[in-house]
Amino acid sequence: MKNLKSLALVAVMAIATVMSAFAKDKPDVYILATGGTIAGTGASAVASGYTAGQVAIESLISAVPHLRDLANITGEQIVSIGSQDMNDQVWLTLAKRINELLASDDIDGIVITHGTDTMEETAYFLNLTVHSNKPVVLTGAMRPSTALSADGPLNLYNAVATAASPSAKDRGVMVVMNGLILGAHGTQKMNTLSVQTFQDPDGGPLGYVYNSEPRWNLCTLKKHTTQSVFDVTNLDVLPKVGIVYSYSNVDADVMSPFLNPANGYQGVIHAGVGNGNIHKNIFPALDQARAQGIAVVRSSRLPTGPTTLYDEVDDEAHQFVASWELNPQKARVLLMLGLTKTHDWKELQKYFDEY
Ligand code: GLU
Repeated sequence: MKNLKSLALVAVMAIATVMSAFAKDKPDVYILATGGTIAGTGASAVASGYTAGQVAIESLISAVPHLRDLANITGEQIVSIGSQDMNDQVWLTLAKRINELLASDDIDGIVITHGTDTMEETAYFLNLTVHSNKPVVLTGAMRPSTALSADGPLNLYNAVATAASPSAKDRGVMVVMNGLILGAHGTQKMNTLSVQTFQDPDGGPLGYVYNSEPRWNLCTLKKHTTQSVFDVTNLDVLPKVGIVYSYSNVDADVMSPFLNPANGYQGVIHAGVGNGNIHKNIFPALDQARAQGIAVVRSSRLPTGPTTLYDEVDDEAHQFVASWELNPQKARVLLMLGLTKTHDWKELQKYFDEY
């Protein structure tokens, strides 16, 4: 009996030892790098003028050794570009790679380093095409890595702290910049120079990072990630959608590229004045687009407030879609993905109601 007891004890201890060998000491965070100012270098620490995307991900990680206090870190360079050159191919590569990585039990969260110029578009694209509830966080910098008070290292640290936190699950894709955590649906780059450039002017930030921990105030009710119907697994190209910008005295000829079938546009976002309003000079060209089967979405050139359905424009009569809270560049993202599913304007409107 005594022998049996000690045998059982030895067995329990052996199992515990094996289990603890497999138990994680820290979360595993995977960093996908795309370039941008966070990886930029300049000749001067104090003057403007630098080249984005010069520093490889390994150097960015080793410049912030504190990251390893938060998580086990792995880095992978996807591209090295200024995000003004972002394109559909990089978006598709990112979405597919993130879905692949997050399907593994070994990975707890993803950080993407990215230029700030188009960060909000990439964030929203991934918000609709990543199908996991694990945290996905974009970050970047407004000052190059060689500048005095470069903001990249702390932004990267806060992004990893957020991606490593179980509390960041189910919140959709996020942007972490200058201490704030912003949701992909509402965040916008608001200032060309300031480190406080990312804001959500209508909704406010989801939270902030304090002492290496995310703290939360809001969550989005828009559909994202695990609720999203958009699947790019088998896509190599996305439908072509462009943006036309309105202003006083705008001429209908700005619509010519969209109406030329040789250019292959399937959709156009009208960045209208006020509540997505349309100049009489351009109205017939937008109707012509609909007659050619091109989807037309009304958004607004204003930075805040929704573009509402059926206000000064009879959307039903013209078969136009209203973008609600999405600015033109994010409306373009949703329309591209919507057009992978349907060309019916009422079905497209439903996507704009829900996402
Ligand atoms: N234009 C560059 C980019 O978006 C610099 C802006 C930045 O990263 O802050 O990559």
